[in-house]
Amino acid sequence: MTIHQNFIAGDWSKASAGAPDVNPSNTKDVIGEYARASKADAEAAIKAAKAAFPAWSLATPQVRYDALKKISDEILARKDELGKLLAREEGKTLPEGVGETIRAAQIFAFFAGEALRVTGEKVGSVRPGVDVEITREPVGVVSLITPWNFPIAIPAWKIAPALAYGNCVVFKPADLVPGCAHALSDIIARSGLPAGVFNLVMGRGSEIGSVLTEHPDISAISFTGSVGTGRKLAATAVSSTPMKKIQLEMGGKNPMVVLDDADLKIAVEACVQGAYFSTGQRCTASSRLIVTQGIHDKFVDAVTERLKSLVVDDALKAGTHIGPVVDQSQLDQNLKYVKIGKDEGAKLHWGGDLLNRETPGFYMQPALFTGVTNAMRIAREEIFGPVATVIKAKDYDEALAISNDTEFGLSAGICTTSLKYASDFKRKSEAGMVMVNLPTAGVDYHVPFGGRKGSSYGPREQGKYAVEFYTTVKTAYTLP
Ligand code: ADP
Repeated sequence: MTIHQNFIAGDWSKASAGAPDVNPSNTKDVIGEYARASKADAEAAIKAAKAAFPAWSLATPQVRYDALKKISDEILARKDELGKLLAREEGKTLPEGVGETIRAAQIFAFFAGEALRVTGEKVGSVRPGVDVEITREPVGVVSLITPWNFPIAIPAWKIAPALAYGNCVVFKPADLVPGCAHALSDIIARSGLPAGVFNLVMGRGSEIGSVLTEHPDISAISFTGSVGTGRKLAATAVSSTPMKKIQLEMGGKNPMVVLDDADLKIAVEACVQGAYFSTGQRCTASSRLIVTQGIHDKFVDAVTERLKSLVVDDALKAGTHIGPVVDQSQLDQNLKYVKIGKDEGAKLHWGGDLLNRETPGFYMQPALFTGVTNAMRIAREEIFGPVATVIKAKDYDEALAISNDTEFGLSAGICTTSLKYASDFKRKSEAGMVMVNLPTAGVDYHVPFGGRKGSSYGPREQGKYAVEFYTTVKTAYTLP
């Protein structure tokens, strides 16, 4: 089998070692062999990026626009093929895979436009005869480290702004999803960027992570992944020389409040969508359903009925609603939390079992816990699977307090027909994103994405806010 290679300094380099990329819906299906970068590969990528930076940082907005637009156009033209690869590799359903691919194309198109819209300011000086100009410049060489759960959209929302604002990129995708990363990189490689501007290093975080985060020629790190790794990277960023700019997107334990006056149908759809679709493997998943007592029993019955109607099967099969869990270790973690929940005294109201399907894969029945308190581990720790907890609340005030009682703060939702409660929740929720009558997961691409507390650190991603992280500000004084 040929090994899909890393892309370094404008070439598909030759790697000595490769690893199989396995389909979680059918572990007998190997998608391909993908290179595992060594430390030397990572160093070569950084060297190439550094060499390319002086020219790329001065490239015209038109050149950057053209490259990003070309990338967007090709992704969109190949959405079905790429969406299928995504579903086969990561395990989300085919419609979800195609949807995510379209999203990646939209993000590249958005940042193509942003490349043309970088502006500065000219202001008056407090000193006579002096001009003051405030401009934005690219940061330098950036390490982009991404997780497996959105294998094309998250790379897109880091790579596109990095390039649009004139940075050079070293991209390290998660181990489990080299296929999407390679396919995207192949498109980027043919977009007309000068050699070294964009580099792909597929490899283990434990092997090449330290090079990508400590190297003196790295100026900034954008990371999406676990809290544990994120904290380590932040410590590295400030202790290495030179200090590096850092942006972290990490976990969530997102609350969805359902009030007595909610439209039950809307609430059930928002909760089931938010908690279980994409196999619950989203940092914005609604894992805590906080339901006031008047609607609690009706809500639990309706969610259970909806769960019974969901088909868990091969991600590529027509009619599948929920694909497999991404791999064995994630499946083990989900099942461990199902046991923890039961041991803590919560009631496993529905699901939580392993499922057998035609092919060997990591299939799990979505799980719903009731009788949960917010102190339980299943209500406090991110599970990252199709497991949701129902916490009963006396009234709105108690529901709001429970929703904010978490170390995370990424997304929070409320289902209500009351303008008063919706407005109050939008104001008082301690989350970066708030949803009213909508799932906690599912966002637009032209507005900021990010959270508070243990969920995020550093400037926001996406939309025009991305300029904060991917540029640095210069204030110039001139006495003409
Ligand atoms: P997840 O649970 O999503 O796998 P991780 O934080 O383990 O979360 O991984 C997210 C990304 O960070 C992956 O690309 C992974 O390879 C990378 N990574 C893991 N450990 C390190 C590290 N020490 N330094 C840099 N990157 C790392």
